[in-house]
Amino acid sequence: MAKEMISLEAAQAIVLDHVTPTPSVRIPSWRASGRPLAEDVVTDIDLAPYANSAMDGYAVRAADLAGAGEDSPVILDVIGHEAAGELFEGVVGAGQTIRIMTGAPMPDGADAVVKYEIVEVLAGDGNEGSRVAFRQAVPAGNDVRRAGLEARAGDVVMRAGEVPSAAGVGLLASAGAAQVGVHARPVIGIISIGSEIVEPSCVPHRGQIRDANASVLLAAAREAGAEPRHFGIVPDDPAAIREVVLRAAAECDMVITSGGASSGDYDYVTALVAQEGEVLFDYISLRPGKAITFGMVHDVPFLGLSGNPAAAAVGFEMLARPAIRRMLGFAAGSRPVQMARIGHDVPKKQDRRYYNRARAVRDDATGELAVTEAKSQDSSLLGTLQHANCLVMVPEGKQGYTAGDLVPCVRIDIDEATVL
Ligand code: AMP
Ligand code: MG
Repeated sequence: MAKEMISLEAAQAIVLDHVTPTPSVRIPSWRASGRPLAEDVVTDIDLAPYANSAMDGYAVRAADLAGAGEDSPVILDVIGHEAAGELFEGVVGAGQTIRIMTGAPMPDGADAVVKYEIVEVLAGDGNEGSRVAFRQAVPAGNDVRRAGLEARAGDVVMRAGEVPSAAGVGLLASAGAAQVGVHARPVIGIISIGSEIVEPSCVPHRGQIRDANASVLLAAAREAGAEPRHFGIVPDDPAAIREVVLRAAAECDMVITSGGASSGDYDYVTALVAQEGEVLFDYISLRPGKAITFGMVHDVPFLGLSGNPAAAAVGFEMLARPAIRRMLGFAAGSRPVQMARIGHDVPKKQDRRYYNRARAVRDDATGELAVTEAKSQDSSLLGTLQHANCLVMVPEGKQGYTAGDLVPCVRIDIDEATVL
């Protein structure tokens, strides 16, 4: 099959075109923090449900205190009290007040609260039967939270697609949503392909290599919000690969393999996708990781990544992560791009899109981001990614960078919503 190289943007668009948000599942609302809502949430009651005190203090009629001053205190009779959870059933009349706690409903008749600190108890313990003095006037509504301050019954408090924070799930709880609908975590099948690959628990013989990629992809899938499922290691044998890939396709929302996706003698992945479905691309303008196959296998999106571990990780980052974010209902799946000052020359040999592993740090003196690439960009090295927090992008058509250039860095350590 002829390999036609396509741009990363074209490849991303094709992948996103072939995934849809997963069906909604109901989960306890607090577990929805960080996950886009699959449905609008409407409050069944006013929030706050009733006018209540914003302070521990005394509920008064503001008009009673109109003439209060430092030398002309207004003295009121305390006729009751309200702790949280208690209800004062009476009416506060002229010349009267009740002692009130934060959150307690405003009693009829009263329209303002005066905090303890500025009220003087003249006689008694401050509760019923006491007399208290006020030395300043307050406006009506003083330290009162009105009913519906946050929302009215029937209002949408959060829209589908919005991502509740920890505070946001508290708002959902207040609205009566003990459970809420979110998109199910997509199940991502992970398969390692290669006759030389052995389990991490094995000591490899000469010619064997431990399976690093399954760990990379399982962890990256989980971090992206998916539910990864491990299908183990398969040798470079077309029938064995076919059996495991079809089993994974039957069980998963997306299947990701590593290894066997280029055009070497024992690379069977692309042919398998062509045979069992449709290959949508198999060669991208990307380094590391040009040999990436994407297609549909029995109507399930299939991504065949390069076996080189750093290439597999970058391929996941560029193609699988956006797909998983789309399945979870996120509007955008991309990472933030920041401009940073490169400290050294960046050579480039091929006219492909480069994503070089690098670390960006804020220079305290200039306030600028300074970025330094890993010394080796060999695609077998995972330690360079472990230490990287960004990928320096060198576009097609550009012959690298010169020390001192401002260069685009994809921040792989933070989400699109995070601002540094
Ligand atoms: P391939 O894409 O199959 O041509 O593999 C490219 C390189 O990645 C080879 O050196 C493989 O041994 C290595 N490789 C493939 N799969 C894995 C894996 N699961 N873990 C670590 N290295 C791998
Ligand atoms: Mg191989």
